[in-house]
Amino acid sequence: MMSKYLIKGGQVIDPANHVDADLDILIEDGRIAAVSKNLAGKKVAAGAEVIDASGKIAAPGLVDMHVHLRDPGRADEETVESGLHAAAKGGFTSVACMPNTDPVTDSASVVEYIKHQAADVGFGNVYPIGAITRGLAGERLSEMGDMVKAGAVAFSDDGRCVMNAQLMRRALEYSKIWDKPVISHAEEADLARGGQMHEGYWSTVLGLKGIPAAAEEVVVARDIILAELTGGRLHIAHLSTAGSLELVRRAKERGINVTCEVTPHHLILTDENLQGYDTNFKVNPPLRTRQDVEALRQGLKDGVIDTIASDHAPHARHEKEMEFDYAPFGLIGLETTLGLILTEIVDKGVVSLSEAIAKMSLNPSKILGIPKGSIGIGDIADLVIIDTNVILEVDPSRFESKSINTPYGGWRLKGVVSDIFCGGNPVIRDGDFVKDNRTKSFSGAFKV
Ligand SMILES: [Zn+2]
Ligand SMILES: [Zn+2]
Repeated sequence: MMSKYLIKGGQVIDPANHVDADLDILIEDGRIAAVSKNLAGKKVAAGAEVIDASGKIAAPGLVDMHVHLRDPGRADEETVESGLHAAAKGGFTSVACMPNTDPVTDSASVVEYIKHQAADVGFGNVYPIGAITRGLAGERLSEMGDMVKAGAVAFSDDGRCVMNAQLMRRALEYSKIWDKPVISHAEEADLARGGQMHEGYWSTVLGLKGIPAAAEEVVVARDIILAELTGGRLHIAHLSTAGSLELVRRAKERGINVTCEVTPHHLILTDENLQGYDTNFKVNPPLRTRQDVEALRQGLKDGVIDTIASDHAPHARHEKEMEFDYAPFGLIGLETTLGLILTEIVDKGVVSLSEAIAKMSLNPSKILGIPKGSIGIGDIADLVIIDTNVILEVDPSRFESKSINTPYGGWRLKGVVSDIFCGGNPVIRDGDFVKDNRTKSFSGAFKV
């Protein structure tokens, strides 16, 4: 395979190196060899295959630090393989996956299994997040050190809140040994119990049990206090309320080691969207009010919110089609996040394209401590080329994901991924996968 590529004439956006200009990028032997004007015709680029990116954006491969790949355990909903295809189609070359798998990712062997599955796919980077507590049971700490050795990049009990403050304190203390973040799914279990949507006007109108903003905020406050106590690195997942944002804002002002993320749906949708009882709008944390959305957008703009993550949560169709009270929480986002952010956030002037790219590549890489999100000389060539001149209608039947639980079907979104390079190899060219690896069958049930 040719190992030299010249990406010509694109608008290169590389926040890590403060680059936003029309430049050429030379890839050689898997790494960025040059980023400069008019490389075509120069000796250094001799023999390179040329990719015309004029009129398009070339950026670091996007990094999604919050996805659920359902592997091991629910191959019908998603696998590492299908998840990486969905990621690439959506512009992501790296994902960090949450440990609520079956078995739970709470030991080195499951971390290794996920890494092996990813290596078999042949492209994309999967960074497992290890469970804070064994079996996500919230009772005893998991084998954190073993998991770090096997490749875990962070810890979380995502899907559940660590309700025992002493355990959370110890997790934050231990994680300092390896300088890994502890990711908080902030949801006070008793306040949230039985809740179906945000508690407020619309939950009353619709007759659904509410989850108050306070269920999130009391845990955000607790975890910030514990981060201050321990000096550990706290990351708040899927921040959803104006109150949580204020808590993080004040904590950052006081120098506490806290970062946070927001999902596209919490930046775009509100509890009003639940009117049709469409379970694709049923997410956790729930869609909040217009005021919360406005606050989160402000937080994104002024930098209190560090990253945008999809919280890609595949669910089987028959489970999502159950009665609202019984349907699981979650929506899939890998293939819509980029388009949603370009259309609803960048084009509407909330943040610049460069800021949006930073929040979807450089910033999550820094939080996870992974060498991604940058296209400086010598960096591994993970790249996305985005054609922002195209508007596409979301068609879930064409998703790479094995699941279709999205509320965005029929939405018209700007931008399409035309090319993806991973480790210097082309994965997507002109909108199509270069090599379809999916002829290989799923390797079967996972055994511990
Ligand atoms: Zn969560
Ligand atoms: Zn999640």
